[in-house]
Amino acid sequence: MKILADTHTHSMASGHAYSTIQENVRAAAEKGLELIALTDHAPAMQNTTSHAFFANLHVIPDELFGVRILKGIELNIMDFEGAVDMDQQTLSRLQLSIASLHIPCITPGTKEENTRACVCAMENPFVDILGHPGDPRYPLDYEEIFKAAKRTGTLLEVNNASLVPGGFRAGSDENIERILRMAMKEDVPVVVGSDAHFYTGIGDIFYVERLMEKIGFPAELVLNTDPGKFLYTIKRNKGLKK
Ligand SMILES: [Zn+2]
Ligand SMILES: [Zn+2]
Repeated sequence: MKILADTHTHSMASGHAYSTIQENVRAAAEKGLELIALTDHAPAMQNTTSHAFFANLHVIPDELFGVRILKGIELNIMDFEGAVDMDQQTLSRLQLSIASLHIPCITPGTKEENTRACVCAMENPFVDILGHPGDPRYPLDYEEIFKAAKRTGTLLEVNNASLVPGGFRAGSDENIERILRMAMKEDVPVVVGSDAHFYTGIGDIFYVERLMEKIGFPAELVLNTDPGKFLYTIKRNKGLKK
């Protein structure tokens, strides 16, 4: 499978990532990607950047080194009602928003609470992607998550960093396999993200690919193989929530 878009990347602005945006975009170009999304951590994550960083992203060109750049954010889901840590007006000016559950920002609740947090965040008209829903620290009712994904058009992410042995979200494999099998059965497209925190990881979806091969997941359901289709889908999905 050849992906042409990396929809989840971090730069030094995130506070615990180590490359500049320029280094990341250049790495994307060198790997033959056509699109990269800049999705640094939103302000509630410790040591990340500020509101002004996201409000000013428009100064970055839409294309650099032949790679289309989407200016985005990885939001933190802050409570079980799906609140996120950026105002709607700023989000409306960004081109991609991932919403994710992160330990420093929300203590895991019951399966019902975690699911409600995600479903409510997915109903936010500016949330395009639910980030790393395979994290075993936040048990989710995947039937409900899929229902919400279909209803709202919010895409479910298959996150490469979650599958890296010894990573923060170790133990995600089983959940991710389950998500992929459900996506196949229901014919729901997914997005894959490297979640790179250093430029060498841009476009790297080694572990996702290995899992997809194992279960025979069709490349047609991976939107990153077709940046045009990905952009069309997120645009269409925003319409679904209005
Ligand atoms: Zn991070
Ligand atoms: Zn994350």
